[in-house]
Amino acid sequence: MTDNLEKAIWDCAVIGGGPAGLTAAIYLARYHLSVTVFDDNTSRASMIPISHNHAGFPDGISGQDLLARMRAQAQRYGALIRGSKVTVLEKDSDLFKLEFDGDTAFARTVLMGTGVLNRRPPMSSPAHDEAVARGLLRYCPVCDGFEVSDKSLGVVGTGMKGFREAKFLRSYTRDVTLVAPDGEHELSDAERKGLAELGIKIEAGPVISIELGTDRVTVTTATTTYAFASFYPALGSEIRSALAVGVGARISDEGCINVDAHQRTSVPGLYAAGDVVIGLDQISHAMGQAGVAATAIRNDLCEVEVLVR
Ligand SMILES: Cc1cc2nc3c(=O)[nH]c(=O)nc-3n(C[C@H](O)[C@H](O)[C@H](O)COP(=O)(O)OP(=O)(O)OC[C@H]3O[C@@H](n4cnc5c(N)ncnc54)[C@H](O)[C@@H]3O)c2cc1C
Repeated sequence: MTDNLEKAIWDCAVIGGGPAGLTAAIYLARYHLSVTVFDDNTSRASMIPISHNHAGFPDGISGQDLLARMRAQAQRYGALIRGSKVTVLEKDSDLFKLEFDGDTAFARTVLMGTGVLNRRPPMSSPAHDEAVARGLLRYCPVCDGFEVSDKSLGVVGTGMKGFREAKFLRSYTRDVTLVAPDGEHELSDAERKGLAELGIKIEAGPVISIELGTDRVTVTTATTTYAFASFYPALGSEIRSALAVGVGARISDEGCINVDAHQRTSVPGLYAAGDVVIGLDQISHAMGQAGVAATAIRNDLCEVEVLVR
């Protein structure tokens, strides 16, 4: 890291040090470009106790281990990683200005790998984190539905989010209960009938308490107490696209950053990859998009100034 940030102009500033941002940093550094990653250490991947669907790790790998390996790989090729939150992003003619920790720096391009934050069920933070670590609370049926095959599952959510999650999980187990966190479900008669035909139980809620047991999580509503092997919140996410929106990037109705086939946003020089872009919220997808973005960044910079050694 240069001590004189105001004189530094990086080829690329990557905002976010999750799988998307770190993959981009590995590619960019190996293209002999100067790259700094900013990360405020809230990667969704860091919550993964052990991933069994990430290719190349037949015995699984924890999210923290994967991230540590990726950080080491990026640093090996010269990427700088800074544990700072970018609070301001501006674009001034051809340069981006970033503010963080009371400092300022400039970059020719910026990659947004800022991800999303899951909305959480009503639990204290320590209880939540313990439940995730022990697999009592899960956020990603695509990732770990296999691990709960034939087990008793709860889905805490309403409307189409809860409806879709419950239906998805039904392909793993017969024992699925959909619980409305705040009260009545927002489901049509046809949707209720569809769930009932699949044998999915519908509980009105509201959820009064969530308690962790040895190998069960107890979810208590106004009328019933359930002991689930795991439960999945289906409460949606906060999309971390505000910095991109601030420089004029277009977003989807959900708040995801719109990109073209090369991960370019609507703002020249600004790219996005990973969960913050609409798509399958998976590590493999974040990595694939980041490789495409980094290559587009390299090629677009080359259009301005041919890269030679
Ligand atoms: C419990 C759980 C289990 C999962 N299991 C799997 C699995 O088994 N397999 C799988 O493929 N996927 C899994 N996922 C999904 C996977 O974690 C995400 O798809 C992946 O982490 C997305 O990578 P990303 O880089 O886009 O975002 P993230 O990993 O969320 O990283 C975004 C980073 O950006 C940083 N950031 C945001 N704003 C700023 C800012 N202004 N300044 C600086 N830094 C900022 C954040 O601190 C964060 O570190 C799981 C998710 C959860 C929650």
